[in-house]
Amino acid sequence: MAPLPRRRQKGAPSNKPPKKSSKRPSWWRFLFGGPSFMGNFISTVLIFLILMSLYSLVAESVKPSVEIPLSTVATDVAAGKITSITVSGDSLEITYKDATTKTSLKDPSAGLPETLATYGVTPDELRQVAISVQGQSGFEFWFLTLAPVILPLIFIAFLFWFLSRQVKGAGMQAFTFGQSKARITDPADATQRVTFADVAGAKEAKEELLEIVDFLKNPKKFLDIGARIPKGIILMGAPGTGKTLLARAVAGEASVPFFSISGSEFVEMFVGVGASRVRDLFQLAKKAAPAIIFVDEIDAVGRVRGSGVGGGNDEREQTLNQILVEMDGFEPTEKVVVMAATNRPDVLDPALLRPGRFDRRVTIDLPDRKDRQKILEVHARSKPFGADVDLAVVAERTPGFSGAELYSLMNEGAILAARENRKEITQYDLIRSIEKVMLGPERKSHLLSKKEKELTAYHEAGHALVSSILPNADPVHKISIISRGRAAGYTLKLPFEDKKMQSKKQFLDDIAATLGGYVAEEMLFDDVTTGPSNDLVVITALAREMVTRYGMSEKLGPIAFGERQMGNEPYSEHVAEKIDAEVARIIEDAKARAKQVLTDHRDALEAIAKALIEKETIERPDFEQILVLNGITPKQREVEGVVIAPATGADIV
Ligand code: ADP
Ligand code: MG
Ligand code: ZN
Repeated sequence: MAPLPRRRQKGAPSNKPPKKSSKRPSWWRFLFGGPSFMGNFISTVLIFLILMSLYSLVAESVKPSVEIPLSTVATDVAAGKITSITVSGDSLEITYKDATTKTSLKDPSAGLPETLATYGVTPDELRQVAISVQGQSGFEFWFLTLAPVILPLIFIAFLFWFLSRQVKGAGMQAFTFGQSKARITDPADATQRVTFADVAGAKEAKEELLEIVDFLKNPKKFLDIGARIPKGIILMGAPGTGKTLLARAVAGEASVPFFSISGSEFVEMFVGVGASRVRDLFQLAKKAAPAIIFVDEIDAVGRVRGSGVGGGNDEREQTLNQILVEMDGFEPTEKVVVMAATNRPDVLDPALLRPGRFDRRVTIDLPDRKDRQKILEVHARSKPFGADVDLAVVAERTPGFSGAELYSLMNEGAILAARENRKEITQYDLIRSIEKVMLGPERKSHLLSKKEKELTAYHEAGHALVSSILPNADPVHKISIISRGRAAGYTLKLPFEDKKMQSKKQFLDDIAATLGGYVAEEMLFDDVTTGPSNDLVVITALAREMVTRYGMSEKLGPIAFGERQMGNEPYSEHVAEKIDAEVARIIEDAKARAKQVLTDHRDALEAIAKALIEKETIERPDFEQILVLNGITPKQREVEGVVIAPATGADIV
């Protein structure tokens, strides 16, 4: 019912928000690694001022009292008011009979007695005064003499150090002061470091990338022998399969800085900014070499250029051109490797994939059962689990899940446990999370009227029954009429094995099962609702692909027809008509077969629908019991072999 998503379409939730790289305490970053150059400058000036006032404080403390001219000292000596004078260097500390002290300075070239004598103090008067000469303390002397010279020097050196840090990007974090908005990951930053150990499965991809790691670790070895290392590697794979993660892991393994920028950021920029950012980025990376530049979602800038329709995006093209120019301009000895990621390799401009550019392609597939288990294990680290948790079972129940979805599954499980104030995550938490990730949260508040509930029940029962009867459809795992995400109800089917490919027979049975809901409504209520509209979208697309992509129509034969667009007509009007007719025929046939199944097993249909109305959700054992009671043998675990097209994973119809 209601628009039903057949496949989960989820962006890859990025669970690791890009943290500002720094292992230093925050006060340090505040003072020295602040976000902008101005911030740094101000803090530098501040520090300078603090140092200066410290200096004057020390200098001040040495002269605690009133300074008087030497002539006064002489008169006071003559008058017998003074008990003692301490000479240290040129400065005099004079103690009076009334216990006050004053200071004065003498002529550095002459001794004190001589100086006083010239002021007319007689030797007798001088004898009344205890004169002691004190060597000035070494530190005080040097500090007072040198500080005024040295401090500004230190200050200037400090300023230079700062600027060079900024420009070289060696400090790695405070780099927003330039043009580029790239995020940089410092290899020394342990909190940000990702290695191959964090990427589960993806064995082939890791093996391919190992060569790049080797090169970045020890470029000299490769360059000395005249080996050329690919400068561009493009990672291709569905959203959430770990492309970004893998690119970071290459940098982590090689311990080189990682400059990352996303293609989508360029799109809404002012004209000209994108190209200059690319230039900056490459400049910086070359200075920091060996290094990796990572262009995420490159399809956002790297779509086929000048395709006309919809108007070109100048900014996009200029950005793309600049990337190509930079890559072409690499010296053979440049120790910078450019990596890019996309989930739409089909729309990429061929110019990007030419030799000398992104000529190395690494494909990352959706994980199979074993890899799913490994990914679950990676994300199970540091989570407390109950004894009943069996990740193998979770892996088995999640065909078609990407790494990102498995990550959020584990996370949802932990959230469920925490919300119920439990200290451990149980298997039940994880199983519930599978459906949450697949379908969105349950909407228990979304109440259906009695009539709607009945309709939904028959609709879902229709899907489930056709799926259970037709030999090449997947077995039903759970049926529910509780709204979930956009769906009013849902039927979960799980293929026994991960299907890498699908056969024509499987497609045909799939289409019939998806039509089962529509046919049931038509049979029972003699009417059709807007509910199955999404089912229809799905089957129409599938039937068309069978005809135009997979050569699964006898009438048209094994031909892959390109997409028909304005200005791009790979086949004639006549063929277009034949294709439409074939699509219609496939759907008609499937509808007839679904109708046949539901008519033959009307009792079972009624029984399933009634159970649904009563319980709202039926799990596999209960469902199979209903089938048995109505004389239908539930499907056995078995694997079929014939294979042609890519897998679709877990189905929701
Ligand atoms: P993509 O860039 O392909 O869309 P990401 O690299 O952003 O996918 O993956 C998103 C998240 O999914 C990762 O941060 C990680 O937590 C998880 N993930 C994806 N693939 C794997 C994997 N093979 N092993 C472990 N975690 C993975
Ligand atoms: Mg990504
Ligand atoms: Zn449906």
